[in-house]
Amino acid sequence: MPHSDDFLAVHDPAATRAVHAPDTGSGRWWGFALALAAGLLLLCGLTWLVSFQRGLATLQQSTATRADRYAATLESTLDRYEFLPALVSLHPFVRGLLDSPHDPARVAAANQYLAEVNRRAHASATYVIAANGIALAASNHGQPGSFVGTDYRFRPYFQIAAGGKMGRFYAIGITSDEPGYYLAQPVESNGKVIGVTVVKLNLEWFQRAGSGAEPLMVSDDHGVIFLSSVPAWQYRTLLPLPPALQAEMESTRQYHGRAVTPLPLEPLDSPVTRWLAQTTLGANARLVRVRDEARAARTTFTPDATLRADRYLELGRTVGPAEWTMQVMAPLEPVLANARNATVAAALAYACICLLLVNWRQRRQRARDMQYSRRLLEAAYDELERRVKARTADLMAINEELEEQVAERTRAESELRAAQDELVQASKLAALGQMAAGITHELNQPLAALRTFSDNTRVLLERGQLAAAEGNLTAIADLTERMGKITGQLKLFAGKARPVRRPVVVRTALDHVLALLAPRLGAVTISVAGLDEQPGLSVRADELKLEQVLLNLIGNALDAIASAAPAQGRIDIEVQADGGTNSGTNSGTNSDTNGGTVTIAVRDNGTGIAPEALPRLFEPFFTTKETGQGLGLGLAISSSIVREFGGQLSVANMPGGGAQFTLVLARAPASPGANEALPVSTPL
Ligand code: ADP
Repeated sequence: MPHSDDFLAVHDPAATRAVHAPDTGSGRWWGFALALAAGLLLLCGLTWLVSFQRGLATLQQSTATRADRYAATLESTLDRYEFLPALVSLHPFVRGLLDSPHDPARVAAANQYLAEVNRRAHASATYVIAANGIALAASNHGQPGSFVGTDYRFRPYFQIAAGGKMGRFYAIGITSDEPGYYLAQPVESNGKVIGVTVVKLNLEWFQRAGSGAEPLMVSDDHGVIFLSSVPAWQYRTLLPLPPALQAEMESTRQYHGRAVTPLPLEPLDSPVTRWLAQTTLGANARLVRVRDEARAARTTFTPDATLRADRYLELGRTVGPAEWTMQVMAPLEPVLANARNATVAAALAYACICLLLVNWRQRRQRARDMQYSRRLLEAAYDELERRVKARTADLMAINEELEEQVAERTRAESELRAAQDELVQASKLAALGQMAAGITHELNQPLAALRTFSDNTRVLLERGQLAAAEGNLTAIADLTERMGKITGQLKLFAGKARPVRRPVVVRTALDHVLALLAPRLGAVTISVAGLDEQPGLSVRADELKLEQVLLNLIGNALDAIASAAPAQGRIDIEVQADGGTNSGTNSGTNSDTNGGTVTIAVRDNGTGIAPEALPRLFEPFFTTKETGQGLGLGLAISSSIVREFGGQLSVANMPGGGAQFTLVLARAPASPGANEALPVSTPL
């Protein structure tokens, strides 16, 4: 029978084969997580790039529009003044001055005229320089810092104009210390330059055209920024100046002692910017960074937006006849911020999608796990049911078998009982034969006594001795009663009595048996010990059956003595209440002796029992006696009777020879009327 724990486990390979465990490998999860991370990186990179590119394109477009506007404004201003020096040079006052430079009237007229022209043209200054480089007249004559009398030979615009060409030059005024754009026109007479007319324009308004957040600057052909909306960038160069050029600038005093240092502007160079330059940026656009030394040195924050930004989209335009370069610097910070925001938004959206995806995956995994558990449970249930059915079938088969066995045993038992009853009956009949002689002898004695008593009584009656006759009649009555009892015993012994258990006085039963066996005793001495102290000692038994057992035991002892030494034959009967010894082989009967026991030992000095016969003594039909003398039923029946009483019957050989049969019975409370004592007959 398998252990019941087996029901809990699914051992059936077929059942487990049908249920496949879901694949929960952590490797797949790692792969999935890595793919998500790679996707995040790719998405962030692409989002940033696309967003930045689009922002840059938009910025470039809007900046280009503004740059075109600024350029057009500057260009139109320059165009407007381009012809003014030529006009001035044509005026008779100017010509007259150049013809007679020392004529005070002409000088005054020229000064007057120049002031008038300057005022109307909204120029900074208008003046006339003689061929020797000395200013003859100026719009600011008579004012502090007047140009009149100043030597301009070192100025390039004068040198160019003196050479017969239009001179254009941006410089800081040496007298006024104000920056300006100088337009110089040669005044010729007979193919010879006799003087130069100059108009100086203040262009500083232009550097205020751009907003503070979007730096605007104009640089000359040497790369010197002379106009800039960022004051710190003015008079700085975009390219390092060669020493020769530096020397020339010092000689022309172009920037009048200003230290012209390089602006730390460098193009942004990376694969991304190169790609953007190819795909998005126009020919005159580039991405640059302006390193701000001031900011690096500063420790406190400044709200100046121009100083906060350091990366720009630079858009260049060539402006004016001097081919200046105008650069509009659009800060990249907003575009970068937008790209950053778009990237963060995309990353967040991606993270949300990833979370949903992970959630969905987990749900799917959970569903798979649950399905697997359910299938496992179903398989276990099926297996359990199958096993329960198999066990139930087994149990039912065993049960049926047991029922059959029980029926068989019941049948065998009843057959055995019937056989036992038959045997008891047969044994009784056999014993009856043996007893017949004894009974005949027993009855013959009282009969003889009866005849003697009756004869004596008649004689006594004839003599008139009534008292003696009455005594004889009483004796006759006793004798007949005794005889009636003997025949009654015989009748009871021969019949099949119902098994009853009632108190039987041991002494009475022993007396009856000894009385029955008296004819066979001969020279054998019989002693009974242990009953004198307690004559009423009783056992729970059936009177007749107990007597039958004792009759059989004592009879067998007489037989054994007869085979050994009949002359010194001796039988000792020892009765002991509560605690007799019970050694040797017994008939295996159960006892019912809770209320105390009575042990009756029958010991003889006969042949004893051969060792090989000892274990078979209680078997039916086991006998060592000659045919016709013993049936081999006596001990079998006796042991059966004793078992019926709940007692024990055992046998052992005595050390000095002979055998001892020990009978143990349940003790019963003494009851005087249980079985009346039959006096042992004494031969008369
Ligand atoms: P039976 O007396 O008819 O042989 P029993 O069952 O009474 O049948 O006895 C069986 C056998 O036990 C006897 O044949 C005898 O050999 C042996 N036996 C019984 N009692 C004694 C005894 N007291 N001493 C020696 N042998 C005995």
